[in-house]
Amino acid sequence: MNKKLTILLLSCFAGLASCSRSARAEDTSFTAMNTYMTVKSYGKGAAAANERVRQEVERLESILSTTIESSDVYKINNSDVEEITVSAETAFLIERGADFYKMTGAAFNPALYPVIREWGFTTGEYKVPKAGRIQELLEFTDFSQVKMWDGNVTRPAGLQLDFGAIGKGYAGDKAIEILKNAGVESALLDFGGNIQVLGTKPDGSDWTVGIKNPWGGQPVAAVKLRDACMITSGGYERFFIGEDEKKYIHIFDSKTGRPVENDLESVTIICREGIYGDALSTSLFVMGLDKAIDFWQQRGLDFDFVIITKDRGLVYSASLENSISLLFDFDSVRLVE
Ligand code: ADP
Ligand code: MG
Repeated sequence: MNKKLTILLLSCFAGLASCSRSARAEDTSFTAMNTYMTVKSYGKGAAAANERVRQEVERLESILSTTIESSDVYKINNSDVEEITVSAETAFLIERGADFYKMTGAAFNPALYPVIREWGFTTGEYKVPKAGRIQELLEFTDFSQVKMWDGNVTRPAGLQLDFGAIGKGYAGDKAIEILKNAGVESALLDFGGNIQVLGTKPDGSDWTVGIKNPWGGQPVAAVKLRDACMITSGGYERFFIGEDEKKYIHIFDSKTGRPVENDLESVTIICREGIYGDALSTSLFVMGLDKAIDFWQQRGLDFDFVIITKDRGLVYSASLENSISLLFDFDSVRLVE
């Protein structure tokens, strides 16, 4: 083979190799925040960036966990000290938590921990508490009593926090920021079912992400996403069946101190910011169908939603029309404008 041709072929192979390398996914999986997490990213430096994401999520968990004794949240919940100095991350979650608490009329309430614990959701030793006991504990769940200045937090005795409904979404936002700063342009995170994507797929097309079938089986819909998150809250994954044969789920109504019982199977939110999507998926689930629709109409167009109802219905915001494909034979389908 002549020399020129050899060099040409070699450089071609090198080109192909680097091309296929840049389009190859770097997958990292780990368990954190009580859930299984995966990061799939593409491009130079992706493996190292994924590792940084894992470390960051573990760091956030060490600050926000309700069970790690050195965490800010543990100290707020268990210390007798009046004023707790917290990290910037905790301060941010308290601040945003207060926004969501107000915005949703307390459907979102990060101060339900004493109630949720009484029902056994923190240990798995489930029980239906007596009505009087629930009333007693509801006294401690007024999140507006949490005060913060200069990174110091005060709260009434007995008040306890739990960022379970926004922690993963927040961690996802931090993860996307890390990947972006590392030069990754294309990535997909799955933090326990919270999906967040950076950019498009490496070939420039949209990511396609499925919405789970709450009754089991294949996804019921697929949604196209770019630079967005898609976050679902539902009653079909964490629940217990009481002695009364009733199903009690892990999402609570802060007005009653009881697990939500309504017409919904799941609420999926599609928006830009993970913490917002995570807060709203929980909140709209608590609100139920009519109030969720009212809330969406009042907020304007800063998020989209897909709601699956118990009577096998699908309700979604009309602006999703061009990005959603239905994969299930729903009994009714309604678009909301
Ligand atoms: P998941 O974490 O299962 O994806 P969510 O984001 O809806 O689901 O968060 C549910 C968690 O949030 C519960 O396990 C509990 O710790 C907490 N939580 C339950 N009800 C509420 C509520 N009304 N507001 C805020 N947090 C809640
Ligand atoms: Mg949530």
